Amino acid sequence: MLCCRLTTEASTKDKLMKNFVVIKEYDPCPRNKDGSIRWFLYRWDDGKSGVRRLVRCRHCGSFFLIQAYHLNKFSKYAAYQFEDWYPIENEKEADRVNDTYTGLQWELQHKPAVQCADDKILD
Ligand SMILES: [Zn+2]
Repeated sequence: MLCCRLTTEASTKDKLMKNFVVIKEYDPCPRNKDGSIRWFLYRWDDGKSGVRRLVRCRHCGSFFLIQAYHLNKFSKYAAYQFEDWYPIENEKEADRVNDTYTGLQWELQHKPAVQCADDKILD
């Protein structure tokens, strides 16, 4: 099931985003029951720049789990804010993924449908 809006030409991420509603943003450093930090979404930051959010297409209702992050400061791409868009079945599945995988674990096992660098949509 591919979203109706990802097949159309969107020139920028801002324009693409106009077709989506943000359902929720997840805590990038979830806690254990004892209050300790379970993990950072991305291990090279301290939960400040990486975030996951769930969005839904305003037109066809498709869900995407977005992982937004900066690469670590030694990368030559460190200045960019990246976003990887992963198709996801529904909110319940997104919650399960969020509770189960760090950003990198998820990224290594799945291919994003769309990737953005700042406002640019990458091919
Ligand atoms: Zn759509």
